[in-house]
Amino acid sequence: MEFVNQLGQGCVRIYNGKMAKSAAQSLLNEIWGDRGLPVDPAWIASRLGIVVKLASLPEKVSGAIIKDAGCDPVILLAQNDSNNRQRFTCAHELGHYVSNQGSGTFEYVDLRNGSSNPEETWANEFAGNLLMPERLVREMAARNDPAIVMSWRFGVSMDAMSIRLKRLGIPVE
Ligand SMILES: [Zn+2]
Repeated sequence: MEFVNQLGQGCVRIYNGKMAKSAAQSLLNEIWGDRGLPVDPAWIASRLGIVVKLASLPEKVSGAIIKDAGCDPVILLAQNDSNNRQRFTCAHELGHYVSNQGSGTFEYVDLRNGSSNPEETWANEFAGNLLMPERLVREMAARNDPAIVMSWRFGVSMDAMSIRLKRLGIPVE
């Protein structure tokens, strides 16, 4: 299913899962390289010139990305969240960064009960592909690695792992 979001300045963004996958793969190929698992989204962000900070955020907020004119983008992550949660949120914010490349200013504040509009769905799909690359998930699934082992290797919660496996059509034990 394709979502088309018409923006100002004659710019058209197409949100679909295939683009989220190829955008995440490009970042992995060009920046992360062969550094292995788990993928570190904060490290990738810093290589892109994005400042990543832990911050005291309102309880209902998991993270945010803010790009002001003339400034480096800043990703804020809730300091009390688990490491795995912060990693996923950071990857999600990177998704917003990628889909807004070329824009001088933008900002997103992500709530825990996140909305499901096309941009948010795309950012989640991007994050899933960045932290849990499809090829590696399928290799592990083919070896019958349990989901809990995969979640540990990828550095994600069991919830995130289960959602990813479902998205890829792999039965969850
Ligand atoms: Zn978001």
